[in-house]
Amino acid sequence: MSGNGLFRYDAVVVGGGPCGASAAFTLARNGYTVMVIDAGKFPRFKLCGGLLTGKSTAFLRDCFGMDASCLARAGALEGCENSYHIYAGGRRIVAGSNGSPFYFVRRDRFDSRLLKSVAAAGAVVREGTKVVHADCRTGKVHCHDGSSVCAEFIIAADGVHSTVRKAVCGGLRHSVRQAVAVEVAVPRRHMPQGVQLPSVHLGLLQRGYGWLFPNRRNIVAGVGGLLCRGEHPARVLRTLLCGCGVQAGHIPQPRGYTLPFGGHLRRPFSGRVLLAGDAAGFADAVFGEGIYYAMLSGSLAAQAVMQALPVRAAGSVLHEEHGAGTFYMQLLQRNLFRTLGQAAVLHRFLYRPPDGPDRAAVRLFLRCAHRLLVNRLHSVPDR
Ligand SMILES: Cc1cc2nc3c(=O)[nH]c(=O)nc-3n(C[C@H](O)[C@H](O)[C@H](O)COP(=O)(O)OP(=O)(O)OC[C@H]3O[C@@H](n4cnc5c(N)ncnc54)[C@H](O)[C@@H]3O)c2cc1C
Repeated sequence: MSGNGLFRYDAVVVGGGPCGASAAFTLARNGYTVMVIDAGKFPRFKLCGGLLTGKSTAFLRDCFGMDASCLARAGALEGCENSYHIYAGGRRIVAGSNGSPFYFVRRDRFDSRLLKSVAAAGAVVREGTKVVHADCRTGKVHCHDGSSVCAEFIIAADGVHSTVRKAVCGGLRHSVRQAVAVEVAVPRRHMPQGVQLPSVHLGLLQRGYGWLFPNRRNIVAGVGGLLCRGEHPARVLRTLLCGCGVQAGHIPQPRGYTLPFGGHLRRPFSGRVLLAGDAAGFADAVFGEGIYYAMLSGSLAAQAVMQALPVRAAGSVLHEEHGAGTFYMQLLQRNLFRTLGQAAVLHRFLYRPPDGPDRAAVRLFLRCAHRLLVNRLHSVPDR
């Protein structure tokens, strides 16, 4: 119990996307008391290409015990493909294939399935409740309906526009560099030229790219990046689709959202609050892959909480070196920061002006080293 009679959870997780689900699942499975609070009611819509790399599917297997057949049973699996194309400046420069497949999921059903596992593991899941404030000193979160929840630790997994991040580290909120992305799902029948393989399209934006992901029923098409002056991603997406033979009248109104794109929080914690996933800016700066980093960082935040709880229970004052933040930083440095750092270097190389002097070098690199790039996407980074 907390001082004011509220039950005190070991952790409250704000946000029930892949990050929050993996944090809560890790804690609940290990016997800790945890509540997940999400503003949405699942299955809720989430704009996303839904691409799962090999490292994401490995994480799903190792953490949640979930494989492709499990996703298929949940109606979340939309496609699976080993081969891919890379385009630059409108020309196909790579037709590659890989040993392990890319999977494509529907995010509403995928997220819903993960959250079901969380509830089954023993966590309390509260949907349709928006957190409006969090206190990093007391561990209390306040909800829009006037209720509050108390916990030893708060894991902020509430996405790129994180309310908790804004509440606890006002100044830090500007450190998550955000790209703009727009996306549509075009029914296959409206794409006469067909798109058989997933493809990425470089050179559409100066500091971003486009994608076409063929799924069972639709082609999911998007454009995203850090926008330079005069760039309009929705217009660029239209041009990409028209180039594939889609009639203008068949292009749905694109939806837009932001995603972290290189430039995460360096110290993603404050007092009793640990930030993870998009809330901390943990996404790959090359292709914006975020699901894996959300799940991984959620689980690392949970591990840090599990390390810190006995220290608190022993009655120690929360010394910095024994705080969850310190444990979390150690885990992030070992498992995540290096990979994100490498992606930031690649980002600077790949996203140069399309007509700049380095265009030829980028093409040569992609032709010769696309396997390296794809292996990097698929593989669990070195520990
Ligand atoms: C257009 C687009 C395409 C993408 N494509 C891919 C892709 O193909 N593959 C890939 O790996 N990544 C992709 N990403 C990135 C990926 O979607 C994110 O990195 C990932 O969803 C992050 O997971 P998360 O759990 O941190 O946050 P989210 O998935 O955003 O979940 C946050 C949760 O918090 C809840 N929430 C928010 N605020 C509050 C609040 N105040 N109180 C309570 N709950 C709250 C939300 O309802 C939501 O359920 C894409 C992103 C975009 C925008």
